[in-house]
Amino acid sequence: MVPAIAQVEPLTTARALRGPFDYQLPEDLRERVAVGSMLVIPFGRRELVGVVVGLVEESPVPPERLAAPLRALEAGVSAELVDLAGWVAREYCSTPARALSLVLPPGAGRTRPRLALVATLAPAGASALAEPRSRLSDGQRRLLGRLHAEGPLLATATGVDHGTLRRAAARGLIGLDRHAQRRRPSHEPLGALRGSPPTLSLDQRRALEVVGEALQRGAHRRFLLHGVTGSGKTEVYLRAVERARASGRGAILLVPEIALTPQVVSRVTERFGDTVAVLHSRLSSGERHDEWMRLRAGEASVCVGPRSAVFAPLERLGLIVIDEEHDASYKHEGDPRYDARRVAERRCQLAGAVLLAGSATPRPESIVGLPRLALPTRIDGQVLPPVRILDMRGAARALHPETAQALSTVRAQGGKAIVLLNRRGWSNFLTCRSCGRAWGCPSCDVTLVLHRARGTLACHHCGHRQPAPGRCPDCDSVSVARHGMGTERLERELAGALGDDGFPIFRLDADVAARTGRGAGVLRAFERAEAGLLVGTQMVAKGHDFPDVTLGVVLDADATLRFPDFRAEERTFALIAQLAGRAGRRRSARGSAGRVLVQTLVPEASSIRHAARHDSEGFLVEELERRRALRYPPFSDLIRVVCLADDAQTAQIAAGEIAERLRIPGADVLGPAPLFRLRGRERSQVVVKASDRAAAVVAVGAAVEAVAGDRRHRLVSFSADVDPV
Ligand code: ADP
Ligand code: ZN
Ligand code: ZN
Repeated sequence: MVPAIAQVEPLTTARALRGPFDYQLPEDLRERVAVGSMLVIPFGRRELVGVVVGLVEESPVPPERLAAPLRALEAGVSAELVDLAGWVAREYCSTPARALSLVLPPGAGRTRPRLALVATLAPAGASALAEPRSRLSDGQRRLLGRLHAEGPLLATATGVDHGTLRRAAARGLIGLDRHAQRRRPSHEPLGALRGSPPTLSLDQRRALEVVGEALQRGAHRRFLLHGVTGSGKTEVYLRAVERARASGRGAILLVPEIALTPQVVSRVTERFGDTVAVLHSRLSSGERHDEWMRLRAGEASVCVGPRSAVFAPLERLGLIVIDEEHDASYKHEGDPRYDARRVAERRCQLAGAVLLAGSATPRPESIVGLPRLALPTRIDGQVLPPVRILDMRGAARALHPETAQALSTVRAQGGKAIVLLNRRGWSNFLTCRSCGRAWGCPSCDVTLVLHRARGTLACHHCGHRQPAPGRCPDCDSVSVARHGMGTERLERELAGALGDDGFPIFRLDADVAARTGRGAGVLRAFERAEAGLLVGTQMVAKGHDFPDVTLGVVLDADATLRFPDFRAEERTFALIAQLAGRAGRRRSARGSAGRVLVQTLVPEASSIRHAARHDSEGFLVEELERRRALRYPPFSDLIRVVCLADDAQTAQIAAGEIAERLRIPGADVLGPAPLFRLRGRERSQVVVKASDRAAAVVAVGAAVEAVAGDRRHRLVSFSADVDPV
C-alpha cells in the first residue's frame, strides 16, 4: 500500500498556479495510485485533472484541511516519464503542468474513445474515375483520385468538404463509415518491398557491433552514426532496434517528419509489423490515443514518430534512434521549447538506454559530444556525385546556361532531376514602379510574398493574407514590379520550358504539402514517374531514396547564409550535401551516375566549397574553429529571452532590465537588441552565452520571473528559449 498523501500537479495552463499540492488518499485509492497516476481533484470551486508526482507519509498541511481526490483515471504514465517531465520544465524554463502534458496520453483526462469517419473508394467510384465522360464535380474527381492513389482516408484528410463527401456517398461513389475500434493507421509502402534483410557491409557490421554490445550491457551509452548519404544508416537503425527487442526492450525511432520520410517508416513497419506504433500529427486524436495505449499496454514495443515521440510511453526502453539528427524540426517552437535530441539524451540516461543519432551532416555539437561510428562509403559502391559551383554574379537569368543545358539533357535522356530553391511563393516582394511603394505585412516588419495561383499576398511569418494588388493604392499606377523568384514561379517556368506528358514537373513545398497530405503524395508520384523533375524547398532534400535521379540543382545556395544566425553555415552545408545525396544512387541503365550543380552569388563561401567536395570532415573542423573563436555552441550554451509589447520602447526597457539581472560570472550577455515586429508585437531580445548551463537556466528563470512580476512591466510578455534555433 502506498503512503497516504499524494502530491498532485494540477494540469492547468496558468503559469502562476504551481503545485504540487497535497491530497489525502482514501483507502480504496491508495491501492491503485502510483507516481504518474492521473486523478480528478477538487481545486477551489473547480474540478481539475492532476498528475501524482510524489507520494509521502505526511504533509505540512494539517490533515483536516487536506482534500481528497474525487476519483482516479484509468491511464497514467510511468514514474520515469514524470521525472522526465520535471526535467523538461526546469531545463526549458516552463511549468510542470505544461511539461507533463507532453508525456500524458493525448487529450489527457478528456478523452473518450472517439469515432472517426473514414472514406473508402466504392466500385462505382472506381469506374466513374476511369471513365473520362462520367459526370463528376471537380471536388468529387479530386476525392476519388486521392482515394484511388492513397487508399482509405480519414474524412478530415481527404481535402474536400463535408458536403462533397456526403454527396459522393449518396451517389454510391464512396463508402463513408465510422470506425470505433483501435485502428491501425495504414502506411502504404513507398517503393518496392524488400524481401529478406540485406547482408550487412563491413562498416555496417562494425557499427552495429558497438551499438549491440552497449545494448547488451544495458547501460546508458550514446553514439553518432556519421554515414554519407546512401551508406545504409537506416539498416543499422533497424538492426539495432532488433537487438533491443531481442533483449526484451523497446525502441523509439525519431524522424524529422513522417510525411517526408515515408520510406523509413515503411521499412520499420515492414520489418517489425504489428509491434510498431506510429505517432504523428496527421492521426486523428482518437487514433493517436489508440496508438499511445498500445505502447502503454506493451502491445507495441517500437515507436516511430517526429520529435514528440520522444515522450512515447514505452516501459522498458532500450534504444532511441534519432534519424537525420541535424534536422531543425527536432526543436519544438511552443512552450516548453524543448529539443527532442536533448530530451532523448536525458531519457536514455534515466532508462539506462542507448542513444543512436545518425546523419550525413551531423551538427558540430554532436561531433564534439558523441563517440563516432563511421559509414564512409555508399552501399552501392557509387562515388558521391561531382558537384560544380556556378558563379551567378552578374547573371541575367535565373538559370545558369550550364543548368539549363543539364536540365535539357536529363529531359532528352528521359531521366529525373531535383531542383531545390529554398523559397516558396511566386516572388519575394512587390514594388510600385511609379512611387516605389513596397507591400509589407500590416503586423510584421517584413515584405509580403506573392502567391499567384491563390491570387494573394502572404506573410510567411504570421500567416496574414490579402488579395494581390492590380494597382498601387498610393498613386494608382498599374505598374507593379515583382521581384525575385520562389518555387511557384520556378515550377511554372520550368514547366513552360521543359514539361510535357512524358516529363512531368512536380512541386513540393509547404503550400503544396498543406493541400496534399503533407507532400507524401508528391514524393510517391515522383518516385513512380518514369522521368521528370521535382522542384521544391528544403523538403526535397530530406532523406528520400530515389534510385534514378541523375541531376541535383541548388538555386540561390547562399540564401541560407544570409540569415543572421550562427547556424547559417551549418545549414547551408547540410542543405547542399543532403541534396547532393539524392543524386546518383544506383546508377540506372541509361544514365550517368549523377551530378550536382550549385548556383550561388558567393562561390567562395567555405560552407559551399566544402559541400561541393563532400568534405564533411573539413567543414566541421573549420566550423568548430569558428564557433570556438566566437564562443558559440558547443563551446557555450545559448539562452534567449524575448520581451514583447505593443510599443518598441516598452519591450526594450524590459529587456534591458533582464540583461541587467543577468550579469553573472562566466556568461556573456548580448543585448537588449530590438527585433523586427512580429504579429503586431514589438520585440526586444537578450541572448546569454553561458558556460555553466544549469546555473544560467536558473538565473534566466529568476530574472524573467522578477521582471515579469514587476508592475511596471505588466504590458510586456516574456518568452525564454534554451538552445534557440
Ligand atoms: P542512408 O540512410 O545512409 O542514406 P539508406 O539506409 O537509405 O542510406 O540505404 C541506401 C540503400 O541501400 C537503401 O535502398 C537500402 O535498402 C540499401 N541497403 C542498405 N544496406 C544494405 C546492404 N547491406 N546491402 C544491400 N543494400 C543495402
Ligand atoms: Zn505607387
Ligand atoms: Zn506578418
